[in-house]
Amino acid sequence: MQNWAVSTAAVILAAGNARRFGSPKQRAALGDRTMLEVVCDAAVRAGLEPVIAVIPSDIPTPPGVTRVVNDRPNDGLSASLRMGIAAVPEGAEAAVILLGDQPTVAPATIRALLRTDREGRPVVASLIGDGAGPPLLLERRAFELVDRTAGDEGLRGILATHTELVTPFLPDEEPVDVDTPGDVVRLIEVCPGCGAVYRARADVETHPYIGASPACWATYGAVLAREFRDRAHGAVHRHAVDAYAAQHPGVDGRRQRQSVAVHLIGLCGWLEHRMNADALLPMTRRLTDGAREWPWLDPPKGYKVTVLDVLAARSGDEHVRLVRAWAEDVWSAWGAHHDLVRRWTDAALGS
Ligand SMILES: [Zn+2]
Repeated sequence: MQNWAVSTAAVILAAGNARRFGSPKQRAALGDRTMLEVVCDAAVRAGLEPVIAVIPSDIPTPPGVTRVVNDRPNDGLSASLRMGIAAVPEGAEAAVILLGDQPTVAPATIRALLRTDREGRPVVASLIGDGAGPPLLLERRAFELVDRTAGDEGLRGILATHTELVTPFLPDEEPVDVDTPGDVVRLIEVCPGCGAVYRARADVETHPYIGASPACWATYGAVLAREFRDRAHGAVHRHAVDAYAAQHPGVDGRRQRQSVAVHLIGLCGWLEHRMNADALLPMTRRLTDGAREWPWLDPPKGYKVTVLDVLAARSGDEHVRLVRAWAEDVWSAWGAHHDLVRRWTDAALGS
């Protein structure tokens, strides 16, 4: 049995020498967040507590993050690792090690790492290429391993010679390492709707007016495919469509305005009036078959749940729970427009 409900800390290593980057890598902009903020957010949203970042003194700490200053980047990754582990409080039974320059490691990936059955071993490490590395989990009894690390190698060499301590974890996708500003442009894709950070996809296209990045649109396609295949997943299909469309409003235009309005009314109908898909469908038809003009609503930012979290569901029941959490997060984020959308919904119900 795993015991991941007990507090697990995050140790984010972000004090490295950004020689190849040319400027502080931690401050590189990914959408409206810095790379450090993206990695810290992923740790928080995965449920890690506390989140500890090992950073140089001139880099600000994101809110809620425990700061450990390391101004000696030439001492290597291992020095940061030792400092970060030393800052893990007594109450935490384990720590997840994350790298500050791997911004595509999603909360769902960290949760999957935490859920891995450890089979009595104190380390869970991602198998990447021919070695084991971050994201990785160390139980407290394995913390002493960091005292044996040196230079920039981190735990890689030690784990290679002590495979009996390691449960391998296979992430769905290899983390992207950002070393240069060019890497940010070529390798990283920030969804303009939900803000999720993806490995860039040049092989897929996005929707003409839903405001999603190509990788996010492809992820949504994978979720929809499962809903069409499996009856348990399909039960909440309509609500997943409402959550995704409202989270990806695109830019101001007639179709976009209608899409956002109708899907927000769908979320209001489900969450506040307990309307199921069968009840919502005729209402949606009435709202979309006229020439009604809708206003543009300024969209929110800072979502806690995205389609990537929903994709990680391992059963129909979990999918249903995650779609509800997603819909609630999207609806709550649009709070500035609740009064208006409630009036639209009441009017549509009365018609
Ligand atoms: Zn998105």
